Amino acid sequence: MTERIEKLFKNLQKNKMNPIFAETRQDALKIVEEMLFDGCVITWGGSMSVIECGIDKLLQDKKYCFMNRNRQGITPDEQQECFRASIGADFFFCSANAITENGELLNVDGLANRVSSIAFGPKRIVMIVGKNKIVPDLKEAFLRVKKVAAPKNCVRLGIDNPCAKLGHCVSLLNNPNPDFADGCQKDTRICCDYLISALQRQKGRITVILVNEDLGY
Ligand code: SF4
Repeated sequence: MTERIEKLFKNLQKNKMNPIFAETRQDALKIVEEMLFDGCVITWGGSMSVIECGIDKLLQDKKYCFMNRNRQGITPDEQQECFRASIGADFFFCSANAITENGELLNVDGLANRVSSIAFGPKRIVMIVGKNKIVPDLKEAFLRVKKVAAPKNCVRLGIDNPCAKLGHCVSLLNNPNPDFADGCQKDTRICCDYLISALQRQKGRITVILVNEDLGY
């Protein structure tokens, strides 16, 4: 473990989160498998990092009750049901858009279905975070969303927002330090709701599996 990751782990513990180190994505998969129990209710945030570790496939095992928002053929109504079921779930799996060396997690959504689950509801939040998402502070975390996470997710999801073409938020064209509400005005905007998870009241509710590889965006 590098000095930087050690510092991050100390700060996550200080913030009452539960950090776990995984050298590889295969290790992360094993760690998750050991956490789950038969019949547990699971929801997730549709994360690339989770997919890249093969965790979404594990969750589909019949011994778990996986409310899969990305299931093939799911209707918009059924997807809404998955979002709402999150509140009573045993586990919610996602990644983070950025994680600071101070042990803060930044997540940004267009519809707030993921940030609402992280903030309240599921008994346990399990975040799978690649080392590429570590940033020095919240300012860099915000810029990571505007320069990396949002543009790449727009491309992945086929959303025609300006950042998909530019490779960064349109707000950065004239201003290196945009505000939260700056950027495009489109109905398909994906960075609307910002959640910073800092010092928690519920000790250990949030687990961060830090994978020593680059994962997701
Ligand atoms: S405000 Fe619009 S252009 Fe800027 S990052 Fe968000 S979705 Fe992309």
